[in-house]
Amino acid sequence: MKVLVLNCGSSSVKFQVIETSLDMIEADTDRTLARGGVEKIGLSDSRLAMEVPGRKPYQEIAEILEHRAAVERILRVLAHPQQGVLSAASEIEAVGHRMVHGGEKFASSVLVTPEVEAMIEECVVLAPLHNPHNLRGLVAARSLLPNVPHVAVFDTAFHQSIPPRAFVYGLPYELYTRHSIRRYGFHGTSHRFVSIRTAKLLGRPLEDLRIITCHLGNGCSMAAVDRGRSVDTTMGFTPLEGLLMGTRSGDLDAAILPWVMAMEEVTLAQLNAMLNKHSGLYGISGVSSDMREIEAACKAGNKRAVLAFEIFCYRIKKYIGAYAAAMGGVDAVTFTGGIGENSPLVREQAVSGMEFLGIELDQEANRTTPRGKETLISRPGSRTAVAVIPTNEERVIARDTVRVLGGVMPSFSVPGNEAPR
Ligand code: AMP
Repeated sequence: MKVLVLNCGSSSVKFQVIETSLDMIEADTDRTLARGGVEKIGLSDSRLAMEVPGRKPYQEIAEILEHRAAVERILRVLAHPQQGVLSAASEIEAVGHRMVHGGEKFASSVLVTPEVEAMIEECVVLAPLHNPHNLRGLVAARSLLPNVPHVAVFDTAFHQSIPPRAFVYGLPYELYTRHSIRRYGFHGTSHRFVSIRTAKLLGRPLEDLRIITCHLGNGCSMAAVDRGRSVDTTMGFTPLEGLLMGTRSGDLDAAILPWVMAMEEVTLAQLNAMLNKHSGLYGISGVSSDMREIEAACKAGNKRAVLAFEIFCYRIKKYIGAYAAAMGGVDAVTFTGGIGENSPLVREQAVSGMEFLGIELDQEANRTTPRGKETLISRPGSRTAVAVIPTNEERVIARDTVRVLGGVMPSFSVPGNEAPR
């Protein structure tokens, strides 16, 4: 089955066409036929780019004013006689949509119906920066491809198994019951994918393993995956909490916020920008939000870059300890995301001195990890394995689409795991 995967941001639409089926999932033989995206939607020089394995990358610049036009353009290029990979857009048999927030309403991926679309709309209040764009893409794609099933895959769904002791904040309880303020967690498709792949790489059943997954990209989060279920994660009500990120602060004392508002006379909007855009690696180093540039600045002796790097790695280490405690031990630590997959320095720092948890890194394997390949980087005798697993969120979305349509999509909610209402 050819599945179109769409990931719509505020001014972008990323896409992939993936050939997959229940059998191909089992054999791990599903494959990407084309991938690409439209950027700068709403401007006169929007850019559509597409890569097809074995061909030269294709690009066109045109005025694309809104998401519907972007999806229309993607369908056209996919079915183009020269550049395309389909003989007609009607070859697409299903569409999988990335949705950031499913609130407490969605504990698994679901077939989109008018009722589901209305429920997704209700989640907009929880993710005003993301869900409206996801939804716009969904509405556009459903109107352009009305005869195929559409499936919504949520970043939050995998974390719906987290127990109340880990998701309820120490705030007045009414904030939870009235406004649903709680930890949701994000990057769920990635944490789920890499935990399953880690078990495969180790040749052991997922149901026997306690895995700590570290998704380190521009946004960073970790999850404690206990026998296949997420039991805690670092991101919270929003993707701001937890690890230090490119431009986001991660954990901090909430009392700093009213204090800064009063002392610096900043508005709420400025405060939000400070936390989300001017903090993290960038805010501390003053150099960049990009880990490659931070590492280069460290080498050049920039002390603030060194500090930013140390804080980044220290937080990962702290959460490895915390999650090992939460699960009563740890069998594997897995790194993924742009930084997790490509920075031996971060991986080495993050797990250094953790022999007491059975973590013994193979320095040579860590330094020479082949790009894009699933690799073990712990020593053969290490009680806790350390792995690098390239993430592939689009593939999870395509697979979930097939699973939902085949009626074999598991739910991640755990009966009896609800907090009192
Ligand atoms: P992502 O959001 O997953 O695309 O990850 C983006 C992050 O990965 C940026 O901070 C990049 O600097 C980082 N990154 C990519 N390649 C490398 C590399 N070779 N070494 C260190 N960081 C990298």
